[in-house]
Amino acid sequence: MKLENIKKTYHNRNNVVEALKGITLDLHHNGIIMILGPSGCGKTTLLNIIAGRESYEGKIEDIPYFDYLTQKFNLFEEMTVWDNLYMIKNDEEKIKEYLEQFNMLEHASKKVKKLSNGQKKRVQFIRALLHQPGLLLCDEPTAALDHENTVHLMEELKRLSADIQILLVTHDIALAEEYADRIITMDQGIVVKDEIKAEKKLTQPGNDMEKHGLKETFVFALKELTSRLFDSVGNIILTSFCILTVFVLCNLYMNITSQSDYHTTFKNAENMIVSLPKHTERNTGETYSGYTIKYADLGINDLFDYTQIQTAIENIPEIIAVESFNSKQYQQDMELDYARRQYDIQAYHTFTYNEITLANSPFETPFMMRKDFQPYENWLEYLTGEYMSYSDYLVQVFDLVNGYEDLSLICGSYPAEDEVILSKNAADMLMELDGYHSYEEMIGQTMKLGIDGYLNEYYSEIEGVAPIDTLDVTISGVSSVENDFATLIFFNSGYGNNPIFDHYVVNKDALKFQYVRFLLKPGSDYEVIAQEIQTFFSKENVDIIQFQGKGLGKDQAFYQSPASFMIYGLVILLIIFIMMLMSEIFKRRRVMKEKMILHTYGYSIIQESFIRYGMILGVSCILVLLSVNPISTLINDFAAENYYQPFMTMNFLLILVIAVIVGCIMILLEAIVSGRKHYDNH
Ligand code: ADP
Ligand code: MG
Repeated sequence: MKLENIKKTYHNRNNVVEALKGITLDLHHNGIIMILGPSGCGKTTLLNIIAGRESYEGKIEDIPYFDYLTQKFNLFEEMTVWDNLYMIKNDEEKIKEYLEQFNMLEHASKKVKKLSNGQKKRVQFIRALLHQPGLLLCDEPTAALDHENTVHLMEELKRLSADIQILLVTHDIALAEEYADRIITMDQGIVVKDEIKAEKKLTQPGNDMEKHGLKETFVFALKELTSRLFDSVGNIILTSFCILTVFVLCNLYMNITSQSDYHTTFKNAENMIVSLPKHTERNTGETYSGYTIKYADLGINDLFDYTQIQTAIENIPEIIAVESFNSKQYQQDMELDYARRQYDIQAYHTFTYNEITLANSPFETPFMMRKDFQPYENWLEYLTGEYMSYSDYLVQVFDLVNGYEDLSLICGSYPAEDEVILSKNAADMLMELDGYHSYEEMIGQTMKLGIDGYLNEYYSEIEGVAPIDTLDVTISGVSSVENDFATLIFFNSGYGNNPIFDHYVVNKDALKFQYVRFLLKPGSDYEVIAQEIQTFFSKENVDIIQFQGKGLGKDQAFYQSPASFMIYGLVILLIIFIMMLMSEIFKRRRVMKEKMILHTYGYSIIQESFIRYGMILGVSCILVLLSVNPISTLINDFAAENYYQPFMTMNFLLILVIAVIVGCIMILLEAIVSGRKHYDNH
């Protein structure tokens, strides 16, 4: 090896240190070459430069294949002596032979950290021997040793130096005098003396390190992980927590976005509020679609007047639609008889049009009919159900009021007098019924509504059959409003009432309403508005509550947004991340050292990282998959109990994707924290 004018300058923050000022050396012979000099004169820097761990100016030629015995023991402390050696060369015979030679055989199965410094040095030497370098760099090898161990070590080095070149850095002059074949004295970055004491034969370059393959790397990584079991288990638990937390957060996020979707597009008509009877002692029946079936038994006869509803609408600008008369009329026989006597109700029909007793009856509400329905021709088919099962095509008719432009449209425009906007599910229904292919296609077309209850002249000829009337309306738009239980149709202001109004009553003020549904502007505070409506009604026996698209189960509960939990999840994730970062920083030195060892002895660091983290992730994934179901159930139960929509849904693929991302982040974190800056050369 030949060094030519090697210079090294460290640029610190406030000063510049010229560690080496031009070192020129010819190093061609075997033997122990001692580099002597006071502390800080640049000895370690020189070794590091030769070992390729520092940048430098100048030229180095013919570096033999080398091994570097750094001052600190670069061994895998948690692994056994045997494994430390076996990972270099899987030649059991040779390892045994060397162990015997250095009196280490009895310590072979001990962990390196349990050895004395002298023993560790010997392990380093054995490793170097297995490695078979042409050059051995030793930085202060005797610094931490007592006299006996120093002698022992130096004798071994001396024996070794017959075949290879040993470059040994020390500040111990006596040691140099006794063992050196050549003494190079340095001071303040230059060579001040070069004294050759014994010529030995020329150096050989030494054996190249064989590269270790995938299988060996895998075996090593496995040993690495099992040797530091405590560490690995901690790592696995942390990783599992991380995957789980991210998974919960993903679910939470998807739930929140789907919820905000509801709010912005009226999906499930969550901004609908509805009146509900308050009679708790008798109101024990199932709630459904905004009113109770049991309610019928109460015989309440004083609910809402038309004028009260009108007052509420006029005074609360947030109300953008209200359900039309036809589906909310209070028409108990007694009341109607009374109304008929009082106000001359035309064409009153003693049908069972009673909201409450026939909550699900097809007679309750208007329904969509095929456009081609011909009353005279089709009525029999219709009545026998051959024409279509009209109970599947019920619609809820709403009147748009107060600035209905807040109703979100998918397409089309707001309705004129005889036009309607369909809710998304109504449009879907019509698409199927009349054979449309898109919403756009419906705009401007007419649709037919069936209105039950009017004894009109077509059917008066047929005795004993329920009557029917039809109404043609033009579609002006399709809205994103959607509701699981109600198929909504929005008429232009007041118009929705007209057909029914015309059919049933002369004086609308005579009508009483059993329940009312209001659609509010998106983002309205329904609680405040419900309270206001309540005051307009001033009824003690009614509540105005939010209508649930999914029905009013669960004691009229409505779901709250779980968005506030997002912050907890994020905080937990941050803590986990900080813990991961801390653990990486904490073990930084060890990882750097170990990576250097791996690199020196022919392992691919990247491969090792991937395999090691791959194993950690594999075990973590199994843990996560085992625990995700019970944890999801726990979270969902908690959510349901506290009126949050249950949001955990199992998704293997998502877990897998998260695991891979978490793994990559961990590998990246390790790579960044214990970077590869120091072992890049050669
Ligand atoms: P020795 O091993 O002979 O005691 P070193 O080679 O470690 O000396 O250091 C030589 C000089 O270079 C010292 O003055 C030391 O402070 C300086 N030095 C060494 N490494 C660095 C570094 N990474 N950054 C800045 N200065 C350094
Ligand atoms: Mg030093």
